[in-house]
Amino acid sequence: MTDPFQTAALSEYQKSAAQLASGKDANAALKKSYERYDNLIAKAIDESDTKPDCKAGCAFCCYYKVEARAHEILLIKEYINRHFNTEKIASLKTALETNVSIIRGLTPEQHLTTNLQCALLDNNQCSIYPVRPFRCRNFHSTDANACEQSHSDPSNMEIATGMIEDVAMFADAHTQGFEAAADQTGKDTRIYDFTTALLEALCDEHTLKRYQRGKKTFQQAIEIDLN
Ligand code: SF4
Repeated sequence: MTDPFQTAALSEYQKSAAQLASGKDANAALKKSYERYDNLIAKAIDESDTKPDCKAGCAFCCYYKVEARAHEILLIKEYINRHFNTEKIASLKTALETNVSIIRGLTPEQHLTTNLQCALLDNNQCSIYPVRPFRCRNFHSTDANACEQSHSDPSNMEIATGMIEDVAMFADAHTQGFEAAADQTGKDTRIYDFTTALLEALCDEHTLKRYQRGKKTFQQAIEIDLN
């Protein structure tokens, strides 16, 4: 019997590896991967009896700690430079700096249980929605009331917001497939704290060059050690 997780992960790995090997830059390959992801998740939701309780304007999950990889952050940087005007970039940097100064005073555990509005949240909408990282894409909930409860009581890790098993499984499989392909490029696949890395990406013009040379992309950002 075929394992749907393995099948989805392998399929995404093969497609992304081929695109990355064909000389396409990581941004183009990641955008294509996000398109496939959205189709895969839409199909999984369609086939599920349970539906997510998420809707536009509900943004309790945008106060959580987010991690991302260099290729995701550099795609967001490209999107911001293309779509945001000078004033919007300046106010984004100010909001990121405020959040970074708070995050640097927290332990990883404290960060996990502290509500901190993402600097990219604008009127309860994600301002970079088409290129939001896998960590944000993968989050969904079957109980918006539980999300609100968790938001009101962030240190309570017992509150379960509910996920659809197949949607979570395909999301994870697809993400792992892309990441396995990215791992083979020899480029930086470290996991970074999203806020500190995005601020560095927007302020340091050498981040892309370091990434392309296979070096550590971010020198100031907090690196996440999952071990
Ligand atoms: S990047 Fe977008 S989706 Fe992710 S936490 Fe920030 S505002 Fe929310």
